[in-house]
Amino acid sequence: MKRDYYEVLNVDRNASFDEIKKAYRQLALKYHPDRNKSPEAEEKFKEISEAYAVLSDPEKRRAYDLYGHAGIDSRYTQEDIFRDVDFESIFRDFGFGDSIFDMFFGRGRRRADYTKGEDIQYNLEITLREAAFGAEKEIVVPRSAKCTECNGTGAASQSSLIKCKTCKGAGQVQNMRISGNTQFIQILTCPDCHGTGVFIKERCRKCRGTGITVLETKIKVNIPKGVDDGYSLVIRGKGEQSERGGPPGDLYLVINIKRDPVFERLGDDIICEIPIPFTTAVLGGTVLAPTLDNKKIELNIPPRTQTGTVFRIKSKGMPRFKAEGFGDELVKVTIKIPEKIDRDAEELLFKLREKGL
Ligand SMILES: [Zn+2]
Ligand SMILES: [Zn+2]
Repeated sequence: MKRDYYEVLNVDRNASFDEIKKAYRQLALKYHPDRNKSPEAEEKFKEISEAYAVLSDPEKRRAYDLYGHAGIDSRYTQEDIFRDVDFESIFRDFGFGDSIFDMFFGRGRRRADYTKGEDIQYNLEITLREAAFGAEKEIVVPRSAKCTECNGTGAASQSSLIKCKTCKGAGQVQNMRISGNTQFIQILTCPDCHGTGVFIKERCRKCRGTGITVLETKIKVNIPKGVDDGYSLVIRGKGEQSERGGPPGDLYLVINIKRDPVFERLGDDIICEIPIPFTTAVLGGTVLAPTLDNKKIELNIPPRTQTGTVFRIKSKGMPRFKAEGFGDELVKVTIKIPEKIDRDAEELLFKLREKGL
């Protein structure tokens, strides 16, 4: 019978990530094979590491909370459980060297097999209206791709590839280590050929031996409605190719919203400033206010409106990101002083001045 993961780490079922990490650190210090040479330690170490791997990952933890061990075992292989868990940062603090992956899975399961390609960051400039209504954009991203000339080998021809003598072309070498009664077989990347298994006598001219060229890739992206400045849109698998045949990296589109000539954004609200005639401000009336969708909207100005007064038009702002509804539009009115007036008007104004206005 497999023990309950929470029990294994001796934490509460509601424990936070930090509490789980702390509990695991303490137990790992006690049972890590570099520290504890007793025969039971390795089993114990694997048990706590598995519990930590599951409970430190929100998705796996949810599956475990809902369905128990069956929820994990039916969904993940043992390797899947341990993959991508950052044990190394914990062990580094203690001065423990080994990768947990090598320790548990040994031969042929190099972590390097799972090395993802690099992520790419791309700044995408959009207008406020595109942010408001969403948009489909086609962007051109320079990404690395397998060189077509040499098919990624980096060599000018097949005959200019020479097998590495150290690893006999395998790209990896074994290292045996004995700890207590346990033999650890460590698989290391070949130090001579750096895992490629070959040396190149004559390099491919196009990629200069790297096997990789830069390709301008067109990618269609959908800008979600209501997106804010600085938001990162992740497009999985559209980053750099992995050099070891692992999955490609991801593309991070950082949204950059251009200054709008009319509106300024305040969260989900937008604000604009419109000048109104001073007669409208004094006597009241209606003016047309601009809107994001380019349809003007009639705004009632009550008599004796002061300059700088802000009117709120409900639900004419930005759509709420990943939610229902809209922000508001705020219209700040300022009083427009006429640049030219005729004699009649001027006379009227003189009369107004006599009245002390
Ligand atoms: Zn090439
Ligand atoms: Zn080699």
